[in-house]
Amino acid sequence: MEYINSRIDSINFENHQVFIKRDDLLSKEFSGNKARKFYYFLNNDFKDIKKIISFGSPQANSLYSLSVLSKIKNVKLDFYVSHIASFLKENPQGNYKEALKNGANIIEIQKDDLTSQEYVEKKIIKDEKDFVYIEEGGRVKEAEYGIKILAHEINTWIKENRKENLKVYLPSGTGTTALFLQKHLEVEVLTSPCVGDENYLKKQFLQLNSDETKHPTIIKTKKKYHFGKLYKEFYEIHLELLSQTNIEFDLLYDSLGWLTLIASKYFQENEILYIHQGGILGNESMINRYKNKYL
Ligand SMILES: *Cc1c(COP(=O)(O)O)cnc(C)c1O
Repeated sequence: MEYINSRIDSINFENHQVFIKRDDLLSKEFSGNKARKFYYFLNNDFKDIKKIISFGSPQANSLYSLSVLSKIKNVKLDFYVSHIASFLKENPQGNYKEALKNGANIIEIQKDDLTSQEYVEKKIIKDEKDFVYIEEGGRVKEAEYGIKILAHEINTWIKENRKENLKVYLPSGTGTTALFLQKHLEVEVLTSPCVGDENYLKKQFLQLNSDETKHPTIIKTKKKYHFGKLYKEFYEIHLELLSQTNIEFDLLYDSLGWLTLIASKYFQENEILYIHQGGILGNESMINRYKNKYL
């Protein structure tokens, strides 16, 4: 599959110029953060592989991206989830709906004391063969391969445009993308946690690289947020971004990302390149939930 270097736009938000790396536009089916993280698997031979095994939320962006990957590679996808809400089962939408269309087997784990990860690792993959196992959200070392390519695209743009003082910002989940970007970028990477707090994010970085001097800079969020919960200010900044920039950003990561970025000193003091990591398909169900709650 042809891989296209995503473009960089200049936008204005809250009277500041910001550059946006448009990974949301990478390609029609395989785009955003998970496309970068799974690019290694896309680009490598699946000769004896018959199945991809993963786990996570039935609404996850990784579920959709893995379903695309399995379709392209002509292998099965078994994706384990702890629970599928009956509303979602009856009204499939977003990542869940599209993954089903791509033939994903979304398997609800029978009630058990184990976490999804423990269940898959202790009870499933032992009895399987010829599979690729991908941890939740693509927290795998193979992710470095595609993220390095992203870093090189940005390094080239920085040189061509003489932006050596610029800082790169992206919101983090597992922190895998931010960490590998910092490893391969020539400028400072800023990030903030969207899942858990800054201590959780630091631990994630340490698992991938014990050298703290190579870690991205963490900007703390103003308060504690729970991943996936609805916050009025998330919906408001999402709409504000849409009207000021004409770009749709994701509601789970980007809303908190932008709130945290614009409240930081970096937004005042530095030129910023913001990485749009896709995830727009997941907005459908979130927007329905926001409309039900606030309208
Ligand atoms: C998965 C995802 C993230 C988080 O990426 P990590 O590498 O886990 O930090 C951020 N934004 C979007 C849209 C994602 O899908």
